[in-house]
Amino acid sequence: MTARDPTGFLGQEYRELVDAQANWTLHELAGPSTPWCTIDGRKVLMFCSNNYLGLSNHPRLRAAAEEAIRTHGVGSGSVRSIAGTMDLHLDLERRLAKFKGSEASLVYQSGFATNAGLIPQLVGDGDLVVSDELNHGSIIDGVRLSRAERAVYHHADPADLARVLDAAEEHRPEYRRILVITDGVFSMDGDIAPLDRIAAEAAKHGAMVYVDDAHGEGVLGEGGRGIVSHFGLGRDRVHVEMGTFSKAFGVVGGHISGSRALVDFAFNRSRTWLLSGSAPPPVAAACRAAIDVLENEPEHIRRLWSHTKRFQSTMRDLGFDLGASATPITPVMVGENAVARRLSARLLDLGVFALPIVYPMVAKGKARIRTIMNAALTDDDVGHAIAAFETAGRELGLL
Ligand code: PMP
Repeated sequence: MTARDPTGFLGQEYRELVDAQANWTLHELAGPSTPWCTIDGRKVLMFCSNNYLGLSNHPRLRAAAEEAIRTHGVGSGSVRSIAGTMDLHLDLERRLAKFKGSEASLVYQSGFATNAGLIPQLVGDGDLVVSDELNHGSIIDGVRLSRAERAVYHHADPADLARVLDAAEEHRPEYRRILVITDGVFSMDGDIAPLDRIAAEAAKHGAMVYVDDAHGEGVLGEGGRGIVSHFGLGRDRVHVEMGTFSKAFGVVGGHISGSRALVDFAFNRSRTWLLSGSAPPPVAAACRAAIDVLENEPEHIRRLWSHTKRFQSTMRDLGFDLGASATPITPVMVGENAVARRLSARLLDLGVFALPIVYPMVAKGKARIRTIMNAALTDDDVGHAIAAFETAGRELGLL
């Protein structure tokens, strides 16, 4: 045996990432995620957080978290299934179900843990998952864990979904179950899945429908209730409505809403839920407070949309390509990785923090700056961002 360093690949593979300019460099946020914040020691306008409504620093959420630390401490002491189910968790779940208009809701530690834990329990050997080609990585990993067969349909294309389901029908009754799964709002493009037509196709084939509404909650639907509300769909059409508290809700944690049977099944079977510590008390309390804010302060969602409309129409008038965005996620398409990097760096010089999204996160030639609107911005802030894009866009020959 030679005395080879068994960890030698770590440095080697990291250097390969750096050479391919595919490595992450982390940016330090000193202080809260507010519109003007300090990143890497510079005061900049935050233009790419998921904090759509500015709730991560909302006084009601802060107060709820502080109060929960006083009354319940900083940790739950256990997984939910043993000794870690506090009144705060049950209260949050009741509150969420009421907000969503569902029979029941269940809170997980994160959105990723929800998809990775639940999907492999809904389908397994002998089943089929039919997935949008641009679904989030946590869905892809959940499907991989499931051992179900996987078919992919063209992005947001119900006609192609119909084609895939028709082909699957030929195999029946070999498939025990079929699950159709889609993001609600696509995180890289900001377009909305045609969930009404997707659910209609699924219903024709007796398939379950699972929507990941991480980017639709707090944004779409009545009072920010999300994509199921946006399309006015019944619970008989969308069986699993999944979401996260880490985006518009401003905190952290995943969740599902649906039937009581779904929730009872999910918490008895999801390994991520059963085998991982439950949400700390301040987190559960702040999530609950976020629902209160959504119900009582509709102005945040109004501002989010009015900023979004202004930003998108002005940017399009200037000549920027914003892809298919129909939500506060606005990609500014530039094509090549290097151009996206240069644009992001120039925007930072001009005081706007918006990161490039490049291959392999998106297809080759589809590099972009992904901006995400925030209700806490002022009109002047939005104007500042537009002016920075215009200046940088002209300098780089994009306009
Ligand atoms: N689904 C989608 C569509 C997401 O964008 C994300 C977050 N990037 C997740 C799931 C995971 O959510 P969480 O941050 O709560 O783990």
